[in-house]
Amino acid sequence: IETKLPKVGTTIFSVMSHLAVQHKAVNLGQGFPDFEPPQALRDALSSAMANGLNQYAPGIGTAALREQIALKTERLYGHKVSPDSDVTITSGATEALFAAIAAVVRAGDEVIVFDPAYDSYEPAIDLQGARAVHIPLTVPSFSIDWQRVRDAITSRTRMILINSPHNPSGAVLSSADLEELATIVRDTPIVVLSDEVYEHIVYDGAAHESVLRHPELAARSIVVSSFGKTYHCTGWKVGYAVAPAKLSAEFRKVHQYLTFCTFHPAQAAFAQFLASNPEHYLELPAFYQEKRDRFRKLLTPSRLKLLDVPGGYFQLVDYSAIRDEDDLAFCEWLVKEGGVAAIPLTPFYEKAPGTRLARLCFAKSDATMDAAAERLCKL
Ligand code: PMP
Ligand code: GLN
Repeated sequence: IETKLPKVGTTIFSVMSHLAVQHKAVNLGQGFPDFEPPQALRDALSSAMANGLNQYAPGIGTAALREQIALKTERLYGHKVSPDSDVTITSGATEALFAAIAAVVRAGDEVIVFDPAYDSYEPAIDLQGARAVHIPLTVPSFSIDWQRVRDAITSRTRMILINSPHNPSGAVLSSADLEELATIVRDTPIVVLSDEVYEHIVYDGAAHESVLRHPELAARSIVVSSFGKTYHCTGWKVGYAVAPAKLSAEFRKVHQYLTFCTFHPAQAAFAQFLASNPEHYLELPAFYQEKRDRFRKLLTPSRLKLLDVPGGYFQLVDYSAIRDEDDLAFCEWLVKEGGVAAIPLTPFYEKAPGTRLARLCFAKSDATMDAAAERLCKL
């Protein structure tokens, strides 16, 4: 058959996790914690399954969980949303991103994405017959050059996709960035898709600048998040989308035929856990900041140069003092010869950037970090 996605192979996350197992490397590649979700959350999941919640959930998600998300949105971002019309539970952020793009973007439209861009965005855009317009972020701060965005807007621009805190760099958008964005999209039909899966992981006392803090942007945005990142359970695949009623209605048309509904027991578990532990996500910045700082300290004696990490749970390292080769070659060498799996940045770019950077995940136990650091300091 003629392929619909000629540029797509197996994702770099699957490739590197496979190589990590094959070469017995410490896996700091694919982003997932190697520690367990809170015990109370796991207990809540078991009891949901023991107590008969094993059939379809409501398509848009359980009322109790949507209510908890609405409460959180108002508490953290001062933005009131209706749990009935504005919140939809999805099978991970990945499904929410795909459904948002499929619901809004038509064939021939253009979607602005910022490189390096999370790898699921472009295939979702391509499958609509639309075109991703790539704008590189400014290295090493990974900030947006808003003049380049102004220059890229055409009558076909239908969506701008932002991601803060940013994967892979950890860069965060400021309120001034959101002001720029609001000015650019004012009086246009452009929809903002805001990937905020790391919303609770920002460091050094900074506050996450959700588009939901910005009423003008919130009125034209679909905001996507993921419980996998917040509650250390990436394998449960539960996420959600928050959008004004009219956008949510379009979003739900796709969601109901993509998956119809999301794993019911986990929705019950999250609703119960959020209601009884509303402070869990408030403790997340300190929890991960300790890991970030510990990991950076362990790598101080290495020849890797550490870039700043304002958010998320990835450390970018410049490896140019160790080997002069592109990031794909370096990461292949590192997993085979150095015993550590990392993620190269090239797969997240339209045009290979030529930077000597690799991504290491520090959502790891002390023992895993120690084992990885010992190997990395020998390079
Ligand atoms: N967006 C970004 C930026 C991510 O890093 C991830 C997962 N690592 C996702 C979306 C997908 O989240 P989920 O696992 O909930 O589908
Ligand atoms: N989002 C995770 C990362 O950036 C991986 C998710 C996946 O494997 N698809 O590492």
